[in-house]
Amino acid sequence: MADARLIDAAVRAVGDAGRVCRFVQAGQESIRALTKDDRSPVTVADFASQAVVAHRLREALGPVRLLAEENADALRAPEQAAALERVVEAVRIVWPEADAGAVLEAIDTGNDDATAPVFWTLDPIDGTKGFLRGEQYAVSLALVEDGAPVLGVLGCPNLPASFDAPLNRPDDAGRMYLAIAGEGVRQGGAHETGASALEPLSRPAPDGALRVAESVEAAHSKHDAVTKVLDAVGGGASSIRLDSQAKYAVVARGQADAYLRMPTRKGYIERIWDHAAGSLVATETGCVVTDIAGRPLDFGRGAGLEGNRGIVCAEASLHARLIGAIRELGDALGLPEGLGPM
Ligand code: AMP
Ligand code: MG
Repeated sequence: MADARLIDAAVRAVGDAGRVCRFVQAGQESIRALTKDDRSPVTVADFASQAVVAHRLREALGPVRLLAEENADALRAPEQAAALERVVEAVRIVWPEADAGAVLEAIDTGNDDATAPVFWTLDPIDGTKGFLRGEQYAVSLALVEDGAPVLGVLGCPNLPASFDAPLNRPDDAGRMYLAIAGEGVRQGGAHETGASALEPLSRPAPDGALRVAESVEAAHSKHDAVTKVLDAVGGGASSIRLDSQAKYAVVARGQADAYLRMPTRKGYIERIWDHAAGSLVATETGCVVTDIAGRPLDFGRGAGLEGNRGIVCAEASLHARLIGAIRELGDALGLPEGLGPM
C-alpha cells in the first residue's frame, strides 16, 4: 500500500517532470534547428522527464524498481551529443547539479522488467504526437502491486481546468490527478510539489448526449469502429479527440462519459505505462476499465497488457452497454483478424 512518503515523492516527481517538459516545449523550434531533426523536441523531453522522475523517486525513497519507456543507449551515441546537452539543460531547471553522467544513469534506472510483485512504471511523455503538436500529453507514473496499480499520478501540463477551454491549445497551469487505490482521486495544477496541495475530485453524474474520448491518431484507435459502437448505443453520441492518458482524466472529471480504444492492428499489445496511472484515476472516480471483451486489465504480465486488447472505460451501466454493443457488432466492427470481441 502507498504511504504518504511514496505519494509525495510521486507527486513531486511528476510535477517537476511536467515543468521540464514545458521548458522543452517552449524551446521546440531551437531544438529542431540545432539537431536538424523534427522529432528531437520530444526525444529531449522524454529523456529529461524520465531522468527527473527517476532522480526524484530515488532521492526520496532510495533504490526503486522502475520500468520506464526510454533507455539511455540512444542518447550515448556521439551523434546525439547536441540532444544530450539539451536534455541536461532541461533537467537542471529542477535538478541544478545534474550533469550528463548523472542524467544518463538516472534514465537507466528505468530498465526494470516489471516481474517483481511491486514496481513503478513511467511514461515520461505519453502522447508524443500531442506534445509535438502543442496539444495534450501526459507524464504518467504508477506504482503497481500484485498486477494492479495502487498509486497513479497523471500530470497533464497542457490540460485546462475549464471544460469550455479548447483541448488543442496548451493551458498555462495544466492539471494533475493523483489516484490512490481505495481512496479516490485528488486534483490540482500540473506542477504541484506535494499531495497536500491537491483537492478531492468527485465525478459529476453524466447529463445530456453521450461524449466519448478517443485518440487523435487513427493508427492508435480505429475511429470508424468507435463510431459504429456509438451509433449502436445511441443517444446522439459525439467524440472528443485528444492525445495521451489525459483521456482517462477527462472521463474521471465528467467532461466525457467514456474512453474507447479500438485495436487497429493484430500484433499490437498495449504497454502498461500507457494505462497504469490513467486507469486508476478513472476507476477511483467510480468508472469501470476493461478491454473490449470486458476483461479487467492485467498489469502483472511484464511490460505489456498481454491478456488484453483495446480499452473500454466508463461508469458501470454505460460500460455494460458499450461492451454489449461491441459484442453484438462483432465482425461488423472490422477489427483486425482475431481481434473481434471474444
Ligand atoms: P494516444 O495518445 O491515446 O493516441 O496513445 C499514445 C500511445 O499509443 C503511445 O504511447 C504508444 O505507446 C501507443 N501506440 C503506439 N502504436 C499503437 C497502436 N498500433 N495501437 C494502440 N496504441 C499504440
Ligand atoms: Mg505512451
